Amino acid sequence: VLRLLADHLLTPEGWLSPGLLEVGPDGRITRIASETHPEARRLAGFVVPGVPNLHSHAFQRALAGRAEHRGQSQTDSFWTWREAMYALALRVSPEQVRAIAAQLYVECLEAGMTGVGEFHYLHHAPDGGRYAEPAEMGLQLLEAAKDAGLPITLLPALYVAGGFGRPPGERQRRFTCRGPDELLGLVATLRRAAAEHPEAKVGLAPHSLRAAPPEALLPAVAGLLADDPEARIHVHAAEQPQEVEDCLAHLKARPVEWLVDTAGADHRWCLVHATHTTPAETAALAKSGAVAGLCLTTEANLGDGLFDAPAFLAAGGRFGVGSDSHVTVSAAEELRLLEYGQRLVHRQRNLLAGEGPERHVGRHLYAAAARGGAQALGQPAGALQVGLRADLVVLDPEHPRLLGHGPETALDAFVFGDAGGAVSEVYVAGRRVVAGGRHLRRDEVRARFAAAARALY
Ligand SMILES: [Zn+2]
Repeated sequence: VLRLLADHLLTPEGWLSPGLLEVGPDGRITRIASETHPEARRLAGFVVPGVPNLHSHAFQRALAGRAEHRGQSQTDSFWTWREAMYALALRVSPEQVRAIAAQLYVECLEAGMTGVGEFHYLHHAPDGGRYAEPAEMGLQLLEAAKDAGLPITLLPALYVAGGFGRPPGERQRRFTCRGPDELLGLVATLRRAAAEHPEAKVGLAPHSLRAAPPEALLPAVAGLLADDPEARIHVHAAEQPQEVEDCLAHLKARPVEWLVDTAGADHRWCLVHATHTTPAETAALAKSGAVAGLCLTTEANLGDGLFDAPAFLAAGGRFGVGSDSHVTVSAAEELRLLEYGQRLVHRQRNLLAGEGPERHVGRHLYAAAARGGAQALGQPAGALQVGLRADLVVLDPEHPRLLGHGPETALDAFVFGDAGGAVSEVYVAGRRVVAGGRHLRRDEVRARFAAAARALY
């Protein structure tokens, strides 16, 4: 039995000071108590659950900072960014994807993000032909997660159309499958590989309603769930007003409305970018039990718009956060922007607060994103409680941004004070992967990433 003794331990019932955590050989928490133990390893500081990063397109990490200039048109938008993304997607190799993803996954752990939902649509060779092993790219992502020691829920994407009622374009050739059966073949291969890796799971991601029409989406989801009834399904929901209009024209329903009413979105689903919703859709999404996948930095970077978080949270909705295009990788920054967007719009403060100790916005959003992220990934994590995996983060109370803070305000300081550097240690399944703020394999992973980044640009 591994024993960890935290100065302060955040449990669903509140803080324990001190908090003793016992971890079994399978990495699950077997006991929690407010007591000391002479042989326990001390964790100095505030010990909190890790926040999973529920939405990632790993290869886009190489694009960070490369789409921040105005193009030919006077009004840049999501769609011009997408052209820059395609230019990278069309030339990156499987080895480069592994190197980029490993760097990203190390950065996730160093930021206190203890899991990733990898929304994977870059399936095929640059000419659109199939690799000798058709699941080659997905297998590289599983290897990258293993390189970093990061729990992964790999979500191969179903991408069959280039838009509502349109065939895929030439520049989408690496993404598109012939239909649900081809994608389910990839799922089967990736499941066999993931079975070797105790923290890996495989789900499926209908890319969006524009890329995965009902006649492909519905059988793919049914096929996935036939073999694994608790598998996870992620979908880009309503990122751009244009796709909402197109969806209304083709499916006679708005995207979130269609996903809840017709596709039956429930606790196994994650609707990423449920940005453009009516109040009725927001309420229906909250009631469905699906997770809203919020990617604040990317949504801000791309100029997408603001999710109606106050109404959604008031209706009991569940959410998690993702760094998506990875312009930055920080749970604290995603949560800060979630609250700040609302402050700027409503000209009020502390809008996304809970009750009791969770009137503290930083603590409330942090704990909710940890739980919601774990639900979206279908991983046994998201809180420090018996039966869940010991995925935890130690915040250093000697970090200048946390100095003088006690448990009551530590997470407010972490979220609002830009105290990302306060992550001193990170454990996954009771294994230490970050010490002194550095991932144990940081240097070797960075060297491979450097080679890939230089070759690509
Ligand atoms: Zn995305």
